[in-house]
Amino acid sequence: MLRYWGLVLLSVVLISALPAAAAEPASASASRPAAGVVNPKQVYSYDIMVRDLKQLEETYPGLIRLHAIGESEYGRDIWAADLGLGDAYVMLNGSHHAREWITTILIMSMLDHYAQAYVRNETWNGAPVRDLLHRVTFRFVPMVNPDGVTLQQFGLSAFPEEARADLIAMNGGSSNFKRWKANAKGIDLNRQYPADWENINQPGSGPYYMNYRGKEPLAAKEAQAMAEATKETNPEIAVAYHSSGEIVYWHFHTKPEHVARDRAIATRYAGMTGYRLVQPAANPSGGGYTDWFIQSFGRPGLTAELGRPAGETNVPLSEWERIWPRHRDTGWMLAGEAYNLWLARQTAAYASGEIRLTAEQPAYRWPDHRSAKLGTLYPGRYKLLRTKGGWAEIATEAGPRWAWAGRSPSGTFEPLGGIPVRLAPDMAQYLSPLDAAPAPQPLDAPSATALERWNDWIMVVTPQGTRWVKEANLFGE
Ligand SMILES: [Zn+2]
Repeated sequence: MLRYWGLVLLSVVLISALPAAAAEPASASASRPAAGVVNPKQVYSYDIMVRDLKQLEETYPGLIRLHAIGESEYGRDIWAADLGLGDAYVMLNGSHHAREWITTILIMSMLDHYAQAYVRNETWNGAPVRDLLHRVTFRFVPMVNPDGVTLQQFGLSAFPEEARADLIAMNGGSSNFKRWKANAKGIDLNRQYPADWENINQPGSGPYYMNYRGKEPLAAKEAQAMAEATKETNPEIAVAYHSSGEIVYWHFHTKPEHVARDRAIATRYAGMTGYRLVQPAANPSGGGYTDWFIQSFGRPGLTAELGRPAGETNVPLSEWERIWPRHRDTGWMLAGEAYNLWLARQTAAYASGEIRLTAEQPAYRWPDHRSAKLGTLYPGRYKLLRTKGGWAEIATEAGPRWAWAGRSPSGTFEPLGGIPVRLAPDMAQYLSPLDAAPAPQPLDAPSATALERWNDWIMVVTPQGTRWVKEANLFGE
């Protein structure tokens, strides 16, 4: 026992010694710039995007996580930013096509704006966005084609000498690259996915500034990275942003049993943006990202064309004022839809043990926040009956009730912001990671009688009250 508490105290010292950046999310919100990180009114380059992504990750530790999902043909990292803590994913990606980089601005602005909404505890459609971001994770890939965007914005100077003659040849002899859509190897990345790729209309005969489908599907490294990142996250809904026509594609050989579901989501999207739904075609040309997603995953995929037709160049920045208000909240709608799709796929499992509620919360009839609320659950310990996708069914004096537990009690949980001390174990509902996460405090010698266990968490007594600590953080791993 002595050795045990020695380790507890040692770990507390270690917790207190965490670097300031990891230990200060509670105070960081006060100094956070209200205007956000992303300035949408500029030629938004790859370098600006990388700088903004890093600043966003630093500003919202734990809430935003960056991953390089692959490299472009010229060695630029392809960045993804995950926002949220849920098991249901929404994939939003932009700039498959080089000249369509206004789509990158949209995704970066959504990331910035949604993180701010989380910190400010805002609501959308009457529901707290924090609840949504505890249920759903956005995977944003703001720039699928960084080489192509760089070529379109900066021309040959951004590429090595030995590549320039080929780039000019692929551009029909011109050194003006404003019309460029492909990657920097002359492959059209939105004609690279294995979805009826063989029958693409006008597939092109060789590398060109647009339309060339490549020698085979997923030949381009950028398309490979996207396919991998999509399989890895297994999203409920995927949206690929393009930039011409204020229309939404939503259908690609969609199975009859999915048509009503997918049309309903596309219709909600069209209703919010004012965009026109493209009618299903008998023989659509394939190879696109969402064509592949709809066909391979059997889930809703939207291709949204932002902005009015701009001809063979980038959409002018002046269109931003028209695009942003129409799209600002579409992510919340997609997140709600994604969560419902995800929940419908979960099955309830019988469970044993106890669950501890540390705050009042509504009791539900079914494991679904749209179902009837049956009064209030009060803090205490309850016998666990079943679990389903982040919900816990518990025994109460009034009968079984469902409680939202924040994440699957059996799931893994990464403590936010590097602070492994929590008000409740493994339940994101009780965490206010950016506002109210308890700062690490030195513990008085805890009394052994107060110790409780819950899965791999243990409860210790602190001067501020009881706190849960992950056991692995006490003993190391
Ligand atoms: Zn496009």
